[in-house]
Order: sequence, then structure tokens, then C-alpha cells
Amino acid sequence: MGSRRLLRMGALAVALVSSAMMLAAQQQKQLPNIGAAGQLGPKPPVGSGGCSVTAPTCADVAPGIIQRALGASPLEGNLRHLTDVIGGRVTGSAAEEQAVNWAVEAFKKAGVDDVHTESYTIPVRWSAGPASLTILAPEGFPVRLASAGWSPATPAGGLTAPVVDVGMGTEADFARVGARAHGALLLVHTKISTTWDDLFGEYGQLAQVTALAPKAGAAGILWMASRPYLITYRLMLSMTGEVGPLPMAIVAREDALRMEQFLHAGTAVRARLVLANKIGGTFEAQNVVAEIKGREKPDEYVILGAHLDSWELGTGALDNGCNAAMVIDAARAIHAAGTRPLRSIRFILFTGEEQGMLGSWAYARAHWAEMDKIDGVIIYDSGDGKVTGYELGGRPEIEPAVRKALAPAAQFGADHDTDGAEMGTDNFDFLLEGVPSLVANQEPAGYMINYHAISDTFDKVDIAAVKREEALAAITAYGIADLPERLGKRQSRAEVQELLRKTGLEEQMKAEGIWSLWEGGKRP
Ligand SMILES: [Zn+2]
Repeated sequence: MGSRRLLRMGALAVALVSSAMMLAAQQQKQLPNIGAAGQLGPKPPVGSGGCSVTAPTCADVAPGIIQRALGASPLEGNLRHLTDVIGGRVTGSAAEEQAVNWAVEAFKKAGVDDVHTESYTIPVRWSAGPASLTILAPEGFPVRLASAGWSPATPAGGLTAPVVDVGMGTEADFARVGARAHGALLLVHTKISTTWDDLFGEYGQLAQVTALAPKAGAAGILWMASRPYLITYRLMLSMTGEVGPLPMAIVAREDALRMEQFLHAGTAVRARLVLANKIGGTFEAQNVVAEIKGREKPDEYVILGAHLDSWELGTGALDNGCNAAMVIDAARAIHAAGTRPLRSIRFILFTGEEQGMLGSWAYARAHWAEMDKIDGVIIYDSGDGKVTGYELGGRPEIEPAVRKALAPAAQFGADHDTDGAEMGTDNFDFLLEGVPSLVANQEPAGYMINYHAISDTFDKVDIAAVKREEALAAITAYGIADLPERLGKRQSRAEVQELLRKTGLEEQMKAEGIWSLWEGGKRP
């Protein structure tokens, strides 16, 4: 998330907050409950087109939605169930299947008009097996580690090899090491990750090392964890759900530094890596798709989405359980406010995100014929940090409409949009289809040290912060779906190609090995 820069809060925010508080106090008194008993009116006939002049505006409805988001709600209980009861839920696992079924029921309770699952195929099923690294020379010491996601298994009996330090694993590092890399376990250094730039930097570094290491004939990769305190985590080895090119493990930072000190002192280190990962064949996964129908243009829709899958070292609380629970509760808050926006809102919990946004890729492919009907895609996938604004997916021209839609939620101070574009989450394939997309810019909070890690658990989530996110996300979705005009036009392939070049996404896609899929018309 290189383009994400922390926003300017200062005087602007203060002015915004005081006027909004006065506004909110005023509206509290009037908190409408449009529609008898909080029930939404009857489902409008599809494509009715008739406009009801009395339709309440988003500004009318917003206080009710915000109050329901911030107030007592099933959000915390839902998140606790998703994390503490179901737990970490890797796509293709029994836990993920449980989470899908749970989400369908949770959406039903939220009052949506429709909820169903949509299947898609993932090339390879993967689950982690026992992992160990035994230091054979100089003398044994314990090493904590975790397999990379979709890493191949090591041969029976493990992989015994010298450990060779390749620094950050740049081309210069591989040139320096030369033939010593052949048949070795490569120790790769990392920078401690504290910012969004660091997070994307680590992905960029991973793409480079996994491209160079097989060429150098390396036997495996020992990736120094970019977090301290023996925290281990998963990184995905491919962006297409295929098995990675060579065995790789993330080694606890302190243990990797201990190996490095021996090597630095000129002492040879020899080790045996065991990654008894289970690799299975092609399988079906599901996205969960829920909808509140629009009152006048029900066939046009805005997507509010978050991924439901997670890694399983922890329980996937910050990444991305809190936002999956948030999207479900946003549907409840909008339903409970008792009115419908102009267009429909689809609440989608994608799976396969950690494997390379495979669920959203599949959705974009399966709904290709509807792409003109998708008014915009809003994705939350950065934990519970304060939302500072939206990343506009390389489309600064949509910002005026975004700002207009968000006006009723000014109290949250999410007024700093950025016009960069990343391939880090589920907006990506919609962006490639020329559909306007927004990704919430959030302050890192506890995300950097915990995402994908053993420590990503329920206790790390600030529920009140997620409720504020929910209020903002619900107003964003409702506001955009209720705008008289569309958020922005659907770009042509040539315009998207230019956007990819301009935003640097083209380089990222080349580094990640998916540019050829785009060029070949295979992605999305
Ligand atoms: Zn995520």
C-alpha cells in the first residue's frame, strides 16, 4: 500500500467533528424509522424504474444507520464466533466451510432480501503439516517457524542442506553468493514491518526472491520473520492458487538472527527442514453473496465486500474476521433503518483472498455480463485501524461523487482519499474490468505485527473502532447506491491498460507473474 500516506488531521477534522456533532445531536431527536416496524417496504418489482418522490435521502437515513452501527449489535458476538469458535479458516479447510455456512445464517438474521453461495474452482488444496528446522551444525538450538502458504512439502525425511545467507535476496545478493546458493537453504533477511509501505515492500521482496532462488538452484528458503518476539506468520507463495516453486518457511526473527550470527562469524550452519504439507487436487470454494434490493434500479448494484478466509496460525481476527463481521452488520444496520437506496447493495464475503484474490477473480469472471451494472466496489481489508479515507484505484475523477456520498458520515473524519492502486485485495479484478473501486485507507493500528500471524486473535480487535468503520462503510455503500448519478464510468480495456501503467500496477503484476494472464485475457 505504497500510495497510502497518513492523512492530515489537524484543524480540518476539529471543524468537521464539531459541526457534525451539532448535526448528529439535532438528528438524534428526529431519528426516523422509515417503514412500519423497521421493516423495509415490499421488494420493488425488478426494473420498476418508477421513482417515489417521497424517497428519503441518504442524509435522512444516515443517522439511523450510524446509530444502529455504533449501538448495541451482534457484531462482537459474531466476531467472537468466527474467531474463537470457528477459528483460522484457510480456503479449502473444514473451518472455512463452516464459516461460509455460518455467514449465510448471519446474513439471514441481518434481514437481507437474498443470500446464497457461489462456487468456483481453486487449482490446488493445501494444508500445513508438521514443520521443523533442526540445526545439525554447529550445535542444535530451537528454531520456531511456519510454512509459507501453498509451499511444496519437503521430501520424506526432510531437506538437509547448508544454510547460506543471501541478505535481502536482491540480484546483487544472488550474484555475490553465486554457486553457493545451489542446493542450499537460503536465509533471507527482512526489514521489521511497521508501515503499509513495509507490508507491500515485503510482498515485493518475496516476489523477487521466489523468482531468483529457483534459478540459482536453491533447495529452499528460510524467510526471516519481519516481526519480533518469535512471532511467525504465513505468506502466500503464488498469486494463482498454484503450489510455490520451492519449499519455504518463515523463521522466527530471533532464531534467524541467531543463525545469521554464526554465519557472520564464519561458522558453517547445516540444517534439516521438514515441511510435511498436504497438497491436494482441484476443489470447489464458495463466496457468500447477500443483497438488499434497490428501490428504483434494482439491477444496478454497489458491492460492499471483505474476505472471509484467513490463515490459521491465529484465528484471523484482524485479517480479516473483523471486516467480514462488519460487512454482515452493515447489512443489518441498513436493513434496520427501514429504507432502500436507489440501487441494490450486494454484501459479498469473498474466499480465496489469501491465495491471490481467487474468490473475487472468480466472481468477476462469473458476473462478467453484469460488469456494466456494478456502480462501484468498496473493500475493507486492513484490520481495525481508523479509516482515513479511500484509495480510489487510480481513478481521481470519482472523488467528488465519493465525497458527496460520504457527506452524512463526516463525523468520522475519513476525508483523505488517495489515488493510488494496489493489487493487495478484492477490488483488484473489478479494477481490471474498468469498474470504479474503493479500498478503505486505514491507520496500521495493530495490523502490521499481527496479520497472518499466530497472534491474530480476537483480543487484538478494538470493537468500538470496528463499529465506527461499519457506520462509515454502511453510509459509503448506501450513499453511493443512492446517488442520482453513477460513481464513474466503466473504463475500456485501453483505459485500464493506461491506468495499470500510470499507477505502477503493471510492474507489480509483472513481478507477481500475473501480467501475462491479463495480456492473455485470462485475468480476470
Ligand atoms: Zn486480508
